Amino acid sequence: MTPYTGKRGCIIYDDARRKWRVYVRVPGKRYHVGSRDTLEEAEAIKADAVNTLESGGEQALAAYVDSIRRPKNKPSTVAKGDRFGRLITVKRVPYRRSLRAWECRCDCGNTIVVKETSLTRELVKSCGCIRRESFIGVVEKAGFVDGTCLSVLKSNKVRKDSSTGERCIWRSSEDGMYHVVIHLQRVRHRCGKYETLEEAVKVRDKARARIHGEFLERYEKQPLNL
Ligand SMILES: [Zn+2]
Repeated sequence: MTPYTGKRGCIIYDDARRKWRVYVRVPGKRYHVGSRDTLEEAEAIKADAVNTLESGGEQALAAYVDSIRRPKNKPSTVAKGDRFGRLITVKRVPYRRSLRAWECRCDCGNTIVVKETSLTRELVKSCGCIRRESFIGVVEKAGFVDGTCLSVLKSNKVRKDSSTGERCIWRSSEDGMYHVVIHLQRVRHRCGKYETLEEAVKVRDKARARIHGEFLERYEKQPLNL
């Protein structure tokens, strides 16, 4: 959205940051003057910037932009005991450089550290239990994710037509070897052939743990598009 454009500059609303971004035109480029919460504030700094540019040139503009740049650490709007979804802030904790973060207690009893902006922008509303609950609910109802039956994946039942009595292992009548093949999402993962069933079982267990484990982990962590 560009409500005001002109020869001298423009003000653009930034949806993601919910700010009005002010630019002025200098030869060859747009110069970002600053961003403000309200259109009135934005218009004020745009007018100042244009005046400064006209009277003092680009260098004066740069100095003006520096002078109105807000200190990086704005006062916090979050207090101890504030609630965000299932989370209640317990105490401020240091987190990655200067970013502000809070140790939060979740209604479910877990404690996690969350960036303050993630709380205020409502990106994080629980320790992850909301997502886990919705995941478990969906899986229990459907049992399928992307065409893969999770209950079959998790079980160790052997198919009735298995030639070896072991899951994912079949014995070739041609070479007499035990082949380990793991299927997931219609993809066949060949894991080699072995002379003894014992070797094949060992490889199968390792490979299943990796391939299926990764799959389950991926889906249990992922948000569900419902
Ligand atoms: Zn929780």
